[in-house]
Amino acid sequence: MTTEELKALTYRNETVADTDRAALAAAQEFCEGYKTFLNKGKTEREAAAYSEELLLAAGYRPFVPGEALHAGDKIYHINRGKCVLAATIGTKGMEDGFHLNIAHIDCPRLDLRPRPLYEQTGLAYFRTHYYGGVRKYQWPTIPLALHGVIYRADGSCATVNIGEGENDPVFCITDLLPHLSAKQNEKKLTEGITGENLNVLIGSEPIEDKEVEQRVKLNVLGLLHEAYGITEADFARAEVEVVPAFKARDIGFDRAMVGAYGHDDRVDAYPALMAEIETKSPAYTTVCVLTDKEETGSDGVTGLQSMYTFHFLQQLCKTQGADAIKAFQASKCLSADVTAAYDPGFADAFEPDNGTYAGRGVAIYKYTGARGKSGTSDASAEMVSYLTRLMDQNGVSWQIGEMGKIDLGGGGTVAKYVANQDIDTIDIGVPVLAMHSPFEVVSKVDVYMAYRTFKAFCEDAE
Ligand code: MN
Ligand code: MN
Repeated sequence: MTTEELKALTYRNETVADTDRAALAAAQEFCEGYKTFLNKGKTEREAAAYSEELLLAAGYRPFVPGEALHAGDKIYHINRGKCVLAATIGTKGMEDGFHLNIAHIDCPRLDLRPRPLYEQTGLAYFRTHYYGGVRKYQWPTIPLALHGVIYRADGSCATVNIGEGENDPVFCITDLLPHLSAKQNEKKLTEGITGENLNVLIGSEPIEDKEVEQRVKLNVLGLLHEAYGITEADFARAEVEVVPAFKARDIGFDRAMVGAYGHDDRVDAYPALMAEIETKSPAYTTVCVLTDKEETGSDGVTGLQSMYTFHFLQQLCKTQGADAIKAFQASKCLSADVTAAYDPGFADAFEPDNGTYAGRGVAIYKYTGARGKSGTSDASAEMVSYLTRLMDQNGVSWQIGEMGKIDLGGGGTVAKYVANQDIDTIDIGVPVLAMHSPFEVVSKVDVYMAYRTFKAFCEDAE
């Protein structure tokens, strides 16, 4: 064989810029909508609400269990305000299987504790409890916003969203000045800022009456009562999330990347939702699930370990008198979640041949998990073969790899909870730099290739 012929036998992990120049402009356009999605949905509740708006605008109607459904019908259901289930009925029967695109819309953040409010030396704070895998030292000294719901004693609900508007105040966690940090500097990175340090500064002005204690706390309580009609006890029945106050921004002179809070995993959720919305008359019934609680292990009524998704599928089967077991066995699922993008600044953590790189297309992971593939569903070679052929046929740029050096750590996704229900599942997702930080970075072409993957999967008639 000639050298050229031999070269043609090698696997090349090329940039989308080199293989699909036209995708660059399309990616720029697609990510305008994505940035809006990020800015409008900083919590799972807000992301679900904005998704519902998009679904209704696209002609979806709320699913009524038992109703007759026909090919091309578009229906949706919101699970407890935090998860989105959207489907387009296929021309094939449901026993031929569903094509499922599943991503998550909860993100690492700080939640308020049940009794969050306190005052010390004239400063008022909220105590927080971190949610998901946060690196605690990354959260001080950035502007923070508060998003969530607080239930009053009478059962009515106050919605909180403060820190996003141009004229809104923001909140923050302070850190020690370098002049006095000699002791802190000696600590390990994981101990420099602890969970007990993640207290959010929320006020400093005392009430006028000098005779009482806790004058700043009282002032804050008064302002909260004025704004939201709440008392201190109402925090016990609240879900308020502390999130970065900044908006999604283009990164770089070339604007080829997006920096934002919450790419993990809205960067897969938005493309999956767009693909679902734009699918008109699929062969297989398509289902897009945007779930909650992935970052804490998928437990609970809004997590993928609960039956809510599978109940929805069973209810869809019932409308056609289809056997749900047969439907599950014939189904395929793309479990979408972000992957680690190879970071040259931390090259030590990665194995370059099996790294996945920003700008080289959507990443496929045959397995996730940790150590000896613990906690992974490990997609079959047949499933990888199916997906890569589908992507190649549709001109989607993809790469395949692992998260990083295998003895350093690892991570899981919802894939195993779907696979455990007898549904063939494989992990795909957008590579992210600085994953789980308050400001994560992705390449726009990878977001666009995720969308193209979900679209091809929705429209597959094979
Ligand atoms: Mn994730
Ligand atoms: Mn994550």
